Amino acid sequence: MTPVTIITGGSRGIGAATARRLAHAGHHVAFSYRRDHTAATAVLADIEATGVRGLAVPADTRDPDHVTALFDAAADLGPITGLVNNAGVTSPIGAFVDLDPTDLRNVVDVNLIGYVLCAQQAARRMGTDAAIVNVSSAAATLGSPGEYIHYAAVKAATDALTIGLAKELAPRGIRVNAVAPGIIRTDIHALSGQPDRPDQAATRIPLGRAGHPDEVASAIAWLLGPDATYTTGTVLRVAGGL
Ligand code: NAP
Repeated sequence: MTPVTIITGGSRGIGAATARRLAHAGHHVAFSYRRDHTAATAVLADIEATGVRGLAVPADTRDPDHVTALFDAAADLGPITGLVNNAGVTSPIGAFVDLDPTDLRNVVDVNLIGYVLCAQQAARRMGTDAAIVNVSSAAATLGSPGEYIHYAAVKAATDALTIGLAKELAPRGIRVNAVAPGIIRTDIHALSGQPDRPDQAATRIPLGRAGHPDEVASAIAWLLGPDATYTTGTVLRVAGGL
């Protein structure tokens, strides 16, 4: 049976790299995005060029109705076997005392509420031999002082979500894991006001460089795939030694 995987935030960055990699590995892929229609169209074309089926669904993961619509649309591809909870945002880099409550709420809404809503839909709909991967962050253990402590705290919540869900869903044959990327070259840094962050941070990364989205996508693909059938409840760090 062809695996059917949903990726949230598949139009750019780590989500787009994961969509392309899973398509090459033979998954039908349904992905969500929020507003970058041009980027979503390009990813969809790459998915379909591999010969599998693809779907690009505009869906804001903060909204329960959008999440339901995303899963309903994906079900057209076949029984859902995988979810990659990836759609995430930071907020402007800065000191904790300057954090704007609106930015705080948005980080919680997208990175935690959105993940929970999607995981809940997945848990309701998945059969046995299914897997969820939550995209967390190395920030969860580093704390991100002077940058975005609230984001780090929410990513730590993602790790707790992963552990709890893994235990609750294991009896049904659903595995739940997380990846914790370090600093990866995506648009997220420009959106947080520091586009050159991957280069600036290189000296403090043990491997001496920022990572590429593909290097996270490969870990996600492994966790979803047949080589990880005894792996659940783990957070796989993909952070160049950070
Ligand atoms: P990115 O390049 O900014 O891409 C974010 C993706 O999420 C886009 O597809 C975006 O869609 C989508 N998105 C944002 N808000 C959404 C919402 N409310 N509903 C649906 N989709 C939404 O980000 P990235 O760097 O690939 O990050 C992906 C994940 O990795 C996030 O969870 C992030 O926290 C985590 N992470 C990233 C890094 C890093 O250094 N890049 C490090 C650690 C963890 P649109 O394009 O339509 O806006």
